[in-house]
Amino acid sequence: MSDTILYIVIPCYNEQEVLNLTADVLKQKMNTLFNDGKISTRSKVMFVNDGSKDKTWQIIKDLHREDALFTGITLSRNRGHQNALLAGLMTAKQYADIVISMDADMQDDINVIDRFIDKYNQGNDIVYGVRSSRKTDTVFKRNTALAFYKLMQWLGAETVYNHADYRLMSKRALEGLAQFNEVNLFLRGLVPMVGYLSDTVEYERGERKAGESKYPLKKMTAFALDGITSLSIKPITLITKLGLIIFLLSLAALIWILIVKFTGHATIGWSSILISIWMLGGLQLLAIGIIGEYIGKIYKETKQRPRYIIAENLEEVKDTNQ
Ligand code: UDP
Ligand code: MG
Repeated sequence: MSDTILYIVIPCYNEQEVLNLTADVLKQKMNTLFNDGKISTRSKVMFVNDGSKDKTWQIIKDLHREDALFTGITLSRNRGHQNALLAGLMTAKQYADIVISMDADMQDDINVIDRFIDKYNQGNDIVYGVRSSRKTDTVFKRNTALAFYKLMQWLGAETVYNHADYRLMSKRALEGLAQFNEVNLFLRGLVPMVGYLSDTVEYERGERKAGESKYPLKKMTAFALDGITSLSIKPITLITKLGLIIFLLSLAALIWILIVKFTGHATIGWSSILISIWMLGGLQLLAIGIIGEYIGKIYKETKQRPRYIIAENLEEVKDTNQ
């Protein structure tokens, strides 16, 4: 019988359609893990209600009342997947030896949890779940995701290829993560920075069991941009290089223009002028925009606002009320 306490942390935003199903599946899985002696019976499933507008929090409280296996925290308002996940991880690390994070929709194959735990027992502090294929994704999502990972790699940000937020972290790794105080959260990029021995486990990602995706294209793009600007300053370097190249080109053009002028063929067309105005104007706006993104980030970081506020923690309610 292992005395390793496992907490499974699940951020939930308007997940009333899928939550009971998720709880059933996880309960079975946890019971199997208990019976196999892989984890302590004090292990739990912790739901994080990310300011849902539906009955999500009520369902979590009901689950908790019926079975001590389930517990939860609720945030004071919707703070987004990454912040909700962090709130859950930071709360769970107080009670657990290892924490596994996953989504509420059961897209991540829970049968690989055994392998996560095995890898932990072999001495890994972080185990990344990596999707072996993206058969169930739309062609569009698959390709944009691939392009994103490639871009991140090229920009020099260290992310684990095809890994979402399905991973195991030890208490020690979570303590490490707690020391990162950034407000612009992109956990997939931060966790590798924590260090320690890590490994990956491959799994097939299924389809959402119920409800709708909470990541429409707009949020996905924002998330990708956030990831890039939180982890890499290469875009700014590129702008500088681009500016230098254009400056050198303009020097060459200047020489050419002077030659044309002094040889008396100065019939300079309006097309070249128009092109340079539009191109340079566009480039300048782009460059200012990218730099603005970074300044926006700095602005947010200097404010040091809290990343989440926990309104209620079912674990603690029990302690203080009795
Ligand atoms: N989620 C959240 N807060 C949000 C949006 C999403 O906690 O503001 C949770 C959601 O409940 C789910 C996870 O983040 O557990 C991933 O969302 P989803 O499955 O909709 O994303 P997809 O798998 O489509 O990328
Ligand atoms: Mg999903």
